[in-house]
Amino acid sequence: MQLMLYVLDLHLWRGFENICCLETLLGKQTRSKVALSNVPLKPGRSLMDWIRLTKSGKDLTGLKGRLIEVTEDELSKHNKKEDCWICIRGFVYNVTPYMEYHPGGEDELMKAAGTDGTDLFDQVHRWVNYESMLKECLVGRMAVKPIAAPKVLAEISSTVSEDKKQLNGVLPEKKVLASSSKDLSPSYDWFQTDSLIKIVIYTKQKDMNAELVIVDCQDKQLRGEIIMDDHSYLVEVDLDHAVSEDVAVNIAEKVGKVEIILNKKDNIHWKMLGQPREGHNTFIKRTDRGLFFRKCKLVSKTEVTHDTKLFCLMLPKGTHLCVPTGQHVYLKQIIAGTEVVKPYTPVLPFLPLDFQEPPRHDSVHMYLMIKIYSHGLFTQALDYLQIGDYISVSNPEGNFKKSQVQTSEDLLLLAGGTGFTPMVKLLNFALTEVSCLRTVKLIFFNKTEDDILWRSQLEQLALKDERFEVQFILSQPSKDWVGKQGKISSCLLSEFVKRSRRDSKVLICICGPAPFTEQGVQYLKDLGYSQEEIHAFTA
Ligand code: FAD
Ligand code: NAP
Repeated sequence: MQLMLYVLDLHLWRGFENICCLETLLGKQTRSKVALSNVPLKPGRSLMDWIRLTKSGKDLTGLKGRLIEVTEDELSKHNKKEDCWICIRGFVYNVTPYMEYHPGGEDELMKAAGTDGTDLFDQVHRWVNYESMLKECLVGRMAVKPIAAPKVLAEISSTVSEDKKQLNGVLPEKKVLASSSKDLSPSYDWFQTDSLIKIVIYTKQKDMNAELVIVDCQDKQLRGEIIMDDHSYLVEVDLDHAVSEDVAVNIAEKVGKVEIILNKKDNIHWKMLGQPREGHNTFIKRTDRGLFFRKCKLVSKTEVTHDTKLFCLMLPKGTHLCVPTGQHVYLKQIIAGTEVVKPYTPVLPFLPLDFQEPPRHDSVHMYLMIKIYSHGLFTQALDYLQIGDYISVSNPEGNFKKSQVQTSEDLLLLAGGTGFTPMVKLLNFALTEVSCLRTVKLIFFNKTEDDILWRSQLEQLALKDERFEVQFILSQPSKDWVGKQGKISSCLLSEFVKRSRRDSKVLICICGPAPFTEQGVQYLKDLGYSQEEIHAFTA
């Protein structure tokens, strides 16, 4: 299993540590609670301090490095703060030494004390870094229970609960569709000429498009993933022979046929496509699929404001990846010997002003607008990257659907600071491709004038397109600021968030620091907007 440190940044602990925490793993209800409960950490209890402690050689499990098999009975005995074990995905951790480093507080961790926290963890975010974060706290694995008297297959699957499967196994089994639904599941075939290998995936789904196809071909390894709603189909093989770096992807959108075309390095006849890898030919829930990273080269880094930069990354030649509007990727870096993963939302290189034609897709570069925090663990490391350095970038994630915009007449975007990033592609998509939209309004909250991202581009856009309006609101303006000032509030929102007609269909998207987003959603609801009319960008 990949060791990974995911630092889920909810910006909840302003003035406190803002670091990865198990409570963000332990259930949605837990997360919203944490978002509102600022638990100050004692000095010397930052993520960096925790990493240092884990590298100190101190025995954090009390088992002197021994790994043991843990029974359910044994696990349940370790349910106190001073002796707290938690099981995640079949692995048991002694989290007592971590308690003081946990930004959500001890009580949140204690909710899973002596039990299996896997389900709660999965509900919030499956990429959170418990394996890396807690690797020195690993007590061992759950003991596999002896198998009882044999049962017929149907009986087994209906009687063994999900909980038990997770407790005894490392991972819930990846589910390939049952044979009855096999006809609906995708399939693949492959063909060759003297110079080419063509892998054809029959998705059996209409409206296939480039954003739903992610291909990586490097070092004789081919990985082709097709996203189909909340499922993913994967072709994953160690190729039989070498191919050149460049890969072509053709999509027959209407019939849902995807072709991956590889160029043979040598003109020899292949007897087979290659050796299947673990996930090959599986059609499973996206949430059960491991996050895949590829190394991208930093090709430029330009200043956007005094603390925010636009990073341009180049995807490898063998990668086909287009991040859908409203989705984010994860970046991964090794910091102090630990893998750290954080989410970022790709933007465009600039705001196109000419909306006559949809922008031509650049499948080679990915642009990220990133604020560098003076004490930020990840962004400081990012800022150290030199042109030509590599950084790992994941597949996209996120639950925003373009169709939400396609049926709207008024689009209102509420952004706080870098919460502007998902609005960039959204704005472009809305003004370019959604003909039913009458008004598009961005209400952009920042501390000071200097913090406003792409201000002049936004102002130019507002001049150019009469459907678009931008309103800047500053929370800490200088005395020269003549514009609007204040923080997100019911009063401010009632002034700026309005339907263009009494019954017009509206979509309000909101993104910013977690408390900003949470409060904003509440104010919008108080103003009478329904859940369906609001989309909040979160992790
Ligand atoms: P952290 O180390 O987490 O610190 C964050 C803040 O806390 C900083 O102000 C830091 O100075 C302060 N801090 C840290 N330690 C202390 C301490 N001991 N005492 C007081 N203050 C402290 N960000 C972008 O810039 N662009 C994006 O496109 C983007 N997209 C995102 C998409 C999603 C879905 C999410 C959830 C977040 C996104 N973020 C984005 C935020 C990003 O993931 C990181 O959280 C952000 O870059 C900060 O990371 P960091 O490790 O540098 O900062
Ligand atoms: P910032 O500069 O600190 O703040 C931007 C604006 O939001 C300021 O006006 C600020 O006012 C206000 N604000 C901050 N905290 C607030 C709070 N608790 N309640 C009400 N208003 C608040 O913002 P930033 O540093 O750029 O941070 C952007 C945030 O967006 C990060 O937390 C990042 O994780 C998040 N983000 C999320 C996504 C996503 O898809 N989920 C994408 C990109 C960014 P004051 O501070 O003056 O009160």
